[in-house]
Amino acid sequence: MNHEPNDHLVEPEDACPRCDERCVDNLIWIDDGEQVRCAACSTIYTPPNRRLEGGDAHAAPTQ
Ligand SMILES: [Zn+2]
Repeated sequence: MNHEPNDHLVEPEDACPRCDERCVDNLIWIDDGEQVRCAACSTIYTPPNRRLEGGDAHAAPTQ
């Protein structure tokens, strides 16, 4: 079983919701710093873990 730690993979919950891409090389932060664009399928999404870090000090706009 090849299960070595890999710094090039994001957490499963932060993976692309469309194609499950987890490679950081394919997940590019957009300029606003809150959303990620998946280079594999062009989906733009907000990683769940990113919201947790913000807390209420950084109110995220509801879309
Ligand atoms: Zn994707």
